[in-house]
Amino acid sequence: MGLLVVGSIALDTVETPFDKIENALGGSSVYISLAASYFTSPVHLVGIVGEDFDEKYIQMLEDHGIDLDGLQIVPGGKTFRWGGKYHYDLNIRDTIFTELNVFENFNPVIPEKSRKSKFVMLGNIQPNLQLHVLDQLEEPQFVVTDTMNLWIETALEDLLKVLKRTNVLIINDSEARLLTNESNLIKAAKAIMGMGPEYLIIKKGEHGALLFGEDNIFSAPAYPLEDIFDPTGAGDTFAGGFIGYLDHVRDLNFENMKRAVVYGSAMASFAVEKFSTKGIEDLTRLQIHDRFIEFRELSRFDDAGKF
Ligand code: AMP
Repeated sequence: MGLLVVGSIALDTVETPFDKIENALGGSSVYISLAASYFTSPVHLVGIVGEDFDEKYIQMLEDHGIDLDGLQIVPGGKTFRWGGKYHYDLNIRDTIFTELNVFENFNPVIPEKSRKSKFVMLGNIQPNLQLHVLDQLEEPQFVVTDTMNLWIETALEDLLKVLKRTNVLIINDSEARLLTNESNLIKAAKAIMGMGPEYLIIKKGEHGALLFGEDNIFSAPAYPLEDIFDPTGAGDTFAGGFIGYLDHVRDLNFENMKRAVVYGSAMASFAVEKFSTKGIEDLTRLQIHDRFIEFRELSRFDDAGKF
């Protein structure tokens, strides 16, 4: 069985106020799969690339135990390319270009053996493709979905169908506001949970993440990093750590959901410390665990103080 991950695979050109890198490995499914691979195995990645996709990337993903039977390599095709530029405030990013290439005709075909997957991560792709993935699965139990403002604006009808079949939606604060026309995040969360998901995670960049359950809210801080080199993929890496941990424990109580949010945040903090996927290629379990503990210390206080 294992964890099924579907999303984009990209060669990213990223410019920050500090540096620039061209055609580096990226894409939602790559960040998600790499992050999840530290928690669970096998991770089945379904995506598409062109013939120009470097063999060394395939090797690196396989070295992380990621199953690539669902990877389509289009002969003569070019891999999806995305270019982004970050402002001095790294929370603000402009998309400079999007070259869809082989991604334009992506038809995610789930290999027979992965159709039984119970845990599924729908990375950020067109909602109709996310629906197509769900239609191929036998009996998914836990579906985590990511999306973006583009789909909220251009494919809302399909996105709402995806949400009806989603257990956890992960989006950022501006997307939550856009989806609901509601500026207050607590009200927005209630509205989104009325659309289908049992849980909602709202990411707030350097201000951490909020997890909403039916009657509970949990707030996780972001790791206070002094040097952020490349925020690209932070959200996807968060999602990978989150679902990877839950696929590992396979017990979806709220305490585990909280731990999963912290593991996701820890993985994201590693991702942004280096360019592209470099920050999550060579981690040890001990490093991840240590950072998890640091997160606990960040917001722990005792309640014995007198008032
Ligand atoms: P994040 O920083 O978490 O939003 O994810 C950034 C990644 O998403 C980059 O590696 C891009 O290649 C990828 N990406 C950008 N635009 C799209 C899109 N329209 N569809 C799918 N993936 C995209």
